[in-house]
Amino acid sequence: MAKKSIGYIKLIWTCPRCATRNPGPNKFCNGCGAPQPEDVQFEQPAEADLIKDSAELARAKAGPDIHCPYCGGRNPAGVKFCGACGGDLAQGKARQAGRVVGAYRAPSGATRPCPACGTPNPLTSLKCSNCGSALPAAEAPSPAAPARAPSAKTPLLIGGVAAALCLVAAVVLGFLFFQRDERPGIVESVAWERTIEIERFGPVEHQDWEDEVPAGASALSCEIEYRTTQDDPAPVATEVCGTPYTVDEGSGFGEVVQDCTYRVYEQMCTYTVEEWAVSDTRRSTGTDLNPQWPAVSLGSDDERRGGEHETFTVTLRSDGDALAYAPESAAEFAAFAMGSEWTVTVNGLGAIVAVEPAR
Ligand SMILES: [Zn+2]
Ligand SMILES: [Zn+2]
Ligand SMILES: [Zn+2]
Repeated sequence: MAKKSIGYIKLIWTCPRCATRNPGPNKFCNGCGAPQPEDVQFEQPAEADLIKDSAELARAKAGPDIHCPYCGGRNPAGVKFCGACGGDLAQGKARQAGRVVGAYRAPSGATRPCPACGTPNPLTSLKCSNCGSALPAAEAPSPAAPARAPSAKTPLLIGGVAAALCLVAAVVLGFLFFQRDERPGIVESVAWERTIEIERFGPVEHQDWEDEVPAGASALSCEIEYRTTQDDPAPVATEVCGTPYTVDEGSGFGEVVQDCTYRVYEQMCTYTVEEWAVSDTRRSTGTDLNPQWPAVSLGSDDERRGGEHETFTVTLRSDGDALAYAPESAAEFAAFAMGSEWTVTVNGLGAIVAVEPAR
């Protein structure tokens, strides 16, 4: 899936000493002045504006902050020496990045009252715009409860029962298939059919994607159709994106991203190619033991003989049943004289497995 960047937001961190919620990039707590601890986890506000300021954007994209190995101070990515103690940051530990913070919510205009003075403040604010009091965490407005996946228990049960029944059926069928029963049989009737295809050289219509149409083909028409779904954008495609979510950048900022796929549309073309194709079939049939090929006369140079096919059927009367048998060749067929006696091997499903002359 393609990851599409929507922008960056400022995350927040909560001071473990005084519980003040601070803007992510702040190194020190706005409430008590304590340094931001190394292990504090960034969160996102209930709603957040995308950053527009270019200096802040550059910081957001710089990468995870580095904690000084000597004093623990927090330094932005790319800095060589600690801003607090001057220590070499080469051995410093970069903050963890890449964690999904949660679904991103753009400002909706919703407000909540300041607990100190009652002034309504947008959900994006950490401080009251009127009295400056710290505002507690806001609940994200939830427009709809997430749809719960349907219970999988019932389909599983039905599936299990169906699988058991299938197994029983397979065992019974297998038993019948391999069961053998020898019976006497007398040839009651015979039949044969022989066909010869006539092929004609001419335009034949095909359909393919535009890039698969063969070189010498004449295109008739093309229509745009859905072809495939892929990770990368294409000239004609519909973008299908999931819910935007925020990823911790390790710098007090979060990147808002969306996973997208692309439904690609391309030209499906109808075209013709000059080639041989079956245009007619000549047929001969009979109910004796002398199969014949049909007479074929070709009309012109653009006609030729195509495939030849033959089928033979013998009906044997056995204990009042009519059993059908299909000899594989004209030579085998020729032995089934009317009224001749045979030993027929039948399986449990009533199909003939073998036919031998009666001893
Ligand atoms: Zn604090
Ligand atoms: Zn330091
Ligand atoms: Zn206030």
